[in-house]
Amino acid sequence: MLDFLGDLRRTHTCGALRAADAGQNAVLMGWVNRRRDFGNLLFIDIRDRTGVTQIVFDRESNPGLHEKAGELRNEYVIAAIGTVKKRDANTINKNIATGEIELIAQGLRILNESKQPPFLPGDTVLPNEEMRLKYRYIDLRREAMQRNIELRHKITMAIRDYLSSHGFFEIETPFMTRSTPEGARDYLVPSRVQPGSFYALPQSPQLFKQILMISGFDKYFQIVRCFRDEDFRADRQAEFTQIDLEMSYPQPEVVWRIVEGFLSAAFKTAGHEIKTPFLRMTYDEAIRLYGSDKPDMRLPAMTDVRDTFTPENLQTLAVSAKLPIVAIRIPKVGELSRKERDEIKPMFTAKGAAKVFEDFKRLEKNFPEAGAKILQKSGAENEDLIVLVAGDGRPAAHESEGGLKPEVKQHDHAVYTAAGLLRLALAQKYAERHGAFKRNGNPAHDFRFLWVTDFPMFEWDEEGQRWAAAHHPFTSPHEHDMDKLESDPAAVRALAYDCVLNGTELGSGSIRIHRQDIQRKIFHALGMTEEEARSRFGFFLEALEYGTPPHGGIALGLDRIVMILAEADSLREVIPFPKTARAVDLMVDAPTPVSETQLRELGIQIKK
Ligand code: ASP
Repeated sequence: MLDFLGDLRRTHTCGALRAADAGQNAVLMGWVNRRRDFGNLLFIDIRDRTGVTQIVFDRESNPGLHEKAGELRNEYVIAAIGTVKKRDANTINKNIATGEIELIAQGLRILNESKQPPFLPGDTVLPNEEMRLKYRYIDLRREAMQRNIELRHKITMAIRDYLSSHGFFEIETPFMTRSTPEGARDYLVPSRVQPGSFYALPQSPQLFKQILMISGFDKYFQIVRCFRDEDFRADRQAEFTQIDLEMSYPQPEVVWRIVEGFLSAAFKTAGHEIKTPFLRMTYDEAIRLYGSDKPDMRLPAMTDVRDTFTPENLQTLAVSAKLPIVAIRIPKVGELSRKERDEIKPMFTAKGAAKVFEDFKRLEKNFPEAGAKILQKSGAENEDLIVLVAGDGRPAAHESEGGLKPEVKQHDHAVYTAAGLLRLALAQKYAERHGAFKRNGNPAHDFRFLWVTDFPMFEWDEEGQRWAAAHHPFTSPHEHDMDKLESDPAAVRALAYDCVLNGTELGSGSIRIHRQDIQRKIFHALGMTEEEARSRFGFFLEALEYGTPPHGGIALGLDRIVMILAEADSLREVIPFPKTARAVDLMVDAPTPVSETQLRELGIQIKK
């Protein structure tokens, strides 16, 4: 029998009662989490988002009520009225907060029934993810998901509070807009009243936030959804949430301080006191030391050991004398078996110009002097794994010098990044042995934050055979590199910065161009004609001409931050209603075809 609440009021949540409440009356409302039938005694665990409480129905003291409770099934929604009783010492359940008490039932209302769910929130073994996403409302009832969403809420609130108390206004920007400059594919929304015209969903509020600076708002933030139609890549979402901010008149350090502030607040809500300011490293250093623009500093940096070899050595090894020879060191790996050693080569995915020496013992035997120096230079200890990556002697496959400052040329870059990827693969493979990825409760060890600065302004786009903006085209070049815009684009540094944590990019930002003449030069350097620039960003170029203050900002991925703090292994664990890697929402079944009528109204015809 289903029941309405009538005048029944919930007095306690299901996770709130303690031994001190013994003797009190309580009305609990929630789901039937579990039912155990011992003949005369029926135990029902009732659950809401705060926890579970055990309810006891005793046939001897109340046969009618006991019989009614017999109808209860998993996930029925009930109201239970009863008296709180301390459990006998031998029945105390230390695993739950309410484990010292139980509710002796005196009344029961079945507020709603439930079909047998495809899986239960209390199940210890999870169904496959497709099932979880299809029945997301059941999945979200699980304690782990309730915790993740709660954490997400707390982190969001901490960030909002921090930014608001530092003078930032939260300002909304449109979702139905026009193409923005982040460089991914847009999601388009067709206009009915202007057939053939489309809105684009924003890849970020980039231009709006810059316009807000032109509009005098000085400090803006928004925790905002962004939409990017990217090809399938692991752990990306078609729509995701950014902590987006922009300020007028900042030096990069000012933006960094704000980010360090709100991240400290966010991490604090999850129980971690992180240390600020974060370390800083130029892009060039990051490439040289870690072979990556998002270094994972939980393991030692790489070392260039080229100078430990004689020219004859290099010839014997058939490696290039002009390119770096990089030693990768992974601590505490211990002696490798032959089989383990053989597994390293296939992990090395370098295209073309680099090669790997995975048998350091042999190398040491053949080149004892170099071997000893390498161990010393890389700071290796007894149990450490040393692998070398070098440029191979053949001429490099592609000759362009694109996208890099003079210090790290394209071919060097290929060696460094090949080594960087191998370093990460080895680090993953031997994670158990080096233990550096395990958290130990010390934030300085667990969370290695870093600002990567001085990115190259341009990247060489092989496909289009042209220079492309490495960040986005509104990023300001370094003041000292302005004169190289035309003559040597590869050498131009951008006032762009990334916030990196444990090898993951949390976000990126930049100081922007605030002058129309420089903006025009950048478009020109990017091979954009005046007309093209006007037609894509005309409104913005015009706005720049009406007294634009210097400004800059950043955007950080909220989903990723929550994922890290929840110690979840996928973004989908911290987004209430996520999409699959193919951008499908399995619960509502989107996207779907639409009716002919709708298409006709929009003037759209689908090619069969
Ligand atoms: N709009 C940029 C992005 O989404 C971030 C920024 O430059 O503030 O990556």
